[in-house]
Amino acid sequence: MTDRADVIVVGGGAMGASIAYHLGAARAGRIVLLERESALGLGSTGRCAGGFRHQFTSEINVRLSLESVRMIREFSSTHGLPLDLSVDGYLFLVRDASAWSEHRAAATMQRSLGARVEEVDAAFITGLVPGLNMEEMVGATFGPDDGIADPSGLTNGYATLARRLGVDIRLGVDVTTIVTAGDGSSVTGVETTAGRMDAPIVVLAAGVWATALARSCGVELPIVPERRHIVVTSPFAGSPGRRTLVIDTRTMFYFHREGEGVLMGMPPRDPVVTFETAVDDRWIADELLPVAVSVLPSLEDAGIVAKWSGLYEMTPDHHAILGPVEGLDGLYLAGGFSGHGFQHAPIVGKILADLVTGTPPPVDVAALRLERFDRGELIGESHVV
Ligand SMILES: Cc1cc2nc3c(=O)[nH]c(=O)nc-3n(C[C@H](O)[C@H](O)[C@H](O)COP(=O)(O)OP(=O)(O)OC[C@H]3O[C@@H](n4cnc5c(N)ncnc54)[C@H](O)[C@@H]3O)c2cc1C
Repeated sequence: MTDRADVIVVGGGAMGASIAYHLGAARAGRIVLLERESALGLGSTGRCAGGFRHQFTSEINVRLSLESVRMIREFSSTHGLPLDLSVDGYLFLVRDASAWSEHRAAATMQRSLGARVEEVDAAFITGLVPGLNMEEMVGATFGPDDGIADPSGLTNGYATLARRLGVDIRLGVDVTTIVTAGDGSSVTGVETTAGRMDAPIVVLAAGVWATALARSCGVELPIVPERRHIVVTSPFAGSPGRRTLVIDTRTMFYFHREGEGVLMGMPPRDPVVTFETAVDDRWIADELLPVAVSVLPSLEDAGIVAKWSGLYEMTPDHHAILGPVEGLDGLYLAGGFSGHGFQHAPIVGKILADLVTGTPPPVDVAALRLERFDRGELIGESHVV
């Protein structure tokens, strides 16, 4: 193992791959990405639904989406690499009058920042996704520029681009410790299962597993893992024609067309903190399926062809933790995306590269630094799907 780099990126999910590419593009020196698995994107990225949208309740998430969604949609034309992509929109259905006023206020904010978000009526919805249960529906919003893209395609695409720029991507290397100088004021490299590597800068993009590594250099990250399931159905008569991602905001149940069936998921009513990713068939039967059939009744006739679970990386305010760490020179964080890290990976990669190279980033993410938790400056995001 070469024992020196200018920047080490830990973690080869969507985030690490994008950061590595953007560091390479910024000519940030000798860049090494270390991933412990035998392939990239086997963490949360590989379990992800691949959705991207502008409909968030915090301004900073909307600003990140405005940049990032454009980068996803233009990935193929910009870089000449394939990326499976559908832009059939995101539809939020609201069934509570009190929630509707907050939802509309968020849509107004989204539009004021430049996002296309429309209030739509029952006739529009029926035309878009026939067969939805509209009982008690008080309103709905539609983001026509939102959609779904292939997480593996984006991750491996960025990795290909990074390699072309000379980034050294090493698989099967488990980082065990982030090493600091004797006085603990700066990072000096990492210890790994393949030996020691020195570097003045370490970017931690290790998903839900970042907390253990951060602790190895005395940094506490408020990121907890929560299991989320995805179920894919067999073809059925009422399967929607478009791939529009539909969200029932009362339950946060969501689905979109996948093959001739649908892909669907929902947060559990009582989330538990766990690294466990075994499928909980009882939860699927008792919680997910009844809600699924109540939202799209034709699902009654569908079978299940695939199911899996993965981990959301939740922070107390459901926003990412980005940027340098006060009191520890050389450590940069990119984690805690709270279930929307795939879609923000392109722009966060660019922002991290800018922060490392001292360039003003396209979106000011100072409010997302780790220190906000100690200062009580939490932000709040309620559109966690
Ligand atoms: C079911 C589900 C659905 C989702 N749907 C969406 C969606 O529709 N849209 C969206 O934007 N987001 C979605 N997400 C969230 C999204 O998947 C994550 O936010 C995103 O993938 C985080 O990317 P990451 O690169 O930070 O983390 P990860 O993909 O988890 O990558 C971290 C990597 O670090 C590696 N690693 C960890 N520790 C070490 C170590 N010590 N040494 C070396 N390597 C290490 C891991 O092996 C892993 O490859 C979903 C998540 C789940 C679980």
